[in-house]
Amino acid sequence: MNQRLFTPGPLTTDTRVRSAMLFDWGSRDAQFIALSNELRVRLLDVVNGRTGHVAIPIQGSGTFALEAMAATLVGPEHKLLVLVNGTYGRRLATIAQRLGRAVETIEWPEDVPVDTTRVADALAADRLITHVAVVHCETTTGILNPLNAIATVVARAGRVLLVDAMASFGALPIDLAVTPIAAVAASSNKCVEGVPGLGVVIVEKAILNESEGRSPSLSLDLADQQREFKTSGQWRFTPPVQVVAATVEALRLLEAEGGPPARLVRYKRNYERVREGLTALGYALYLDPTVQAPIIATFRPQPSRPFNFDVLYSRLARDGLMIYPGKLTAGEAFRVGCIGALTDADFEALIQAFASLD
Ligand SMILES: *Cc1c(COP(=O)(O)O)cnc(C)c1O
Repeated sequence: MNQRLFTPGPLTTDTRVRSAMLFDWGSRDAQFIALSNELRVRLLDVVNGRTGHVAIPIQGSGTFALEAMAATLVGPEHKLLVLVNGTYGRRLATIAQRLGRAVETIEWPEDVPVDTTRVADALAADRLITHVAVVHCETTTGILNPLNAIATVVARAGRVLLVDAMASFGALPIDLAVTPIAAVAASSNKCVEGVPGLGVVIVEKAILNESEGRSPSLSLDLADQQREFKTSGQWRFTPPVQVVAATVEALRLLEAEGGPPARLVRYKRNYERVREGLTALGYALYLDPTVQAPIIATFRPQPSRPFNFDVLYSRLARDGLMIYPGKLTAGEAFRVGCIGALTDADFEALIQAFASLD
């Protein structure tokens, strides 16, 4: 039985993406250099970034890209303000703290989006803040933060914006030609629908040029890696060649689908099916639907019966249907991912499986 992952990633991938890995590329070979070039251009195109940005892929999961972003772009002379309404926002603050950087946070409850008035006030009150970091779609709950409004406020205050777009990149709209964002971090295994193993940071060229020699980490130095891509087209350290090939194939499929707008339509349809199906069975959507991104949805258990996530998980897993645990600070919950190479029939099967638990 084929496994279907209703998770935020790694997620279900297309057979063509997995098949793209069946070759042993030499990392210094012209063929692989061409593949890496295609990867970098396609990543830029996802966010319309060709004019002012470069895409720098980095070995590892998404967190490695976030650490590389913070290490390369935030220096000891800077101060970072992190906008927090979930675990990943908190993690951004932790990353900068571990690097020894000056960090300030503003926190909101997990079910409340970042509000730009508070951000504007904080920036006006503290002139020492140079950078602002925010999570676009907070995977903790699935909440969507108002990226364009945040970017406008940060740019108006003359500060630099860093975005964790891990759960949104490839589906939710990000247009670097119109929205002032210095850096966007993403990974291969979420809305890009590739396999895990690659992070990416898309950085404004002018900002990257000022960042030479700043990273206290050798491996997580985006400026150093970009210099190598520019001069030789090569990776500094062993690239995950098969993952690069799979990610390129996934990005080709994204383009063939119609790009992020078409993918978003599909994810919205998945999310609506999940929401209708599970609320009809008595599960409650945790977030107000107006702030919910169609990426991953958090549900409260049916009030009428006892809830045990492990039991629910194993019942569904017997049919090859994998859901995700909740991550709320208070109360029982579980999450259902709406992303990945899944069909309408797969979502129908999930709802049917939930219905047959009763
Ligand atoms: C997945 C994710 C990350 C990165 O997690 P990894 O496990 O390192 O891939 C970071 N931020 C958000 C919002 C995410 O959804």
